Amino acid sequence: MHAAAGGPAGASTAPGGGRRGIPFVMTGASGVGKDTIRREAVPALGDLFYSVSATTRGQRPGEEHGVQYYFLTPQRFESMLRDDGLLEWADYVGDYYGTPRAPVEAALAAGRDVLLELELAGARQLKRALPEAVMIFIAPPSLAELERRLRGRGTDDEAKIQKRLARAREEIRAVREFDYVVVNDELGRAVHEFQAVVRAERVRATRLRDEDVRAFLRES
Ligand code: 5GP
Repeated sequence: MHAAAGGPAGASTAPGGGRRGIPFVMTGASGVGKDTIRREAVPALGDLFYSVSATTRGQRPGEEHGVQYYFLTPQRFESMLRDDGLLEWADYVGDYYGTPRAPVEAALAAGRDVLLELELAGARQLKRALPEAVMIFIAPPSLAELERRLRGRGTDDEAKIQKRLARAREEIRAVREFDYVVVNDELGRAVHEFQAVVRAERVRATRLRDEDVRAFLRES
């Protein structure tokens, strides 16, 4: 992943000539608070399509099929994979997670910005598939704090907690591959920083289309 997002002027133009949406990828350890940041940050950001992932992991209390995830059997997941129906996928702590391709491609083509929550392997695949993606890492203040939050959530047994912490350690070591890092030590500040990233990326000069520049130059 490269530090700069966006291509040359015109690169974000959709085939029909309209603006193409921007893919925003959020990566960070399970338990770091990505969902909370998203819930708090997104309402003030206007149109931002959230990509609901497919997973084979068990449903947690309060989770609904089609809202947090599409909960699939391994057979169904594998058949989507075979049909090229996933934009990226990964095996995370013994379960599959993947991004259904069609909704994301349709949203981007329609000019809608898209938010994806992916672990590291999937984030890297996504960046290869969509090089214009903006990569945002959500970091815990420390691994000790992350461990405390994972235990507090009470959704995983000890073995899963240890595996999730090991993955978190690996992901944190890769933090410099990302464009931005938001530390979730104080929720209000983390939300504000996440919003600042989205807003700044939306007004990058590199995303201007030729017709935008022509419009600025219009004199009568
Ligand atoms: P959890 O089980 O805590 O909901 O998610 C575990 C990890 O999988 C998190 O890091 C989450 O961001 C990641 N994840 C969720 N959906 C996807 C996906 O579609 N693809 C990939 N690669 N990772 C995902």
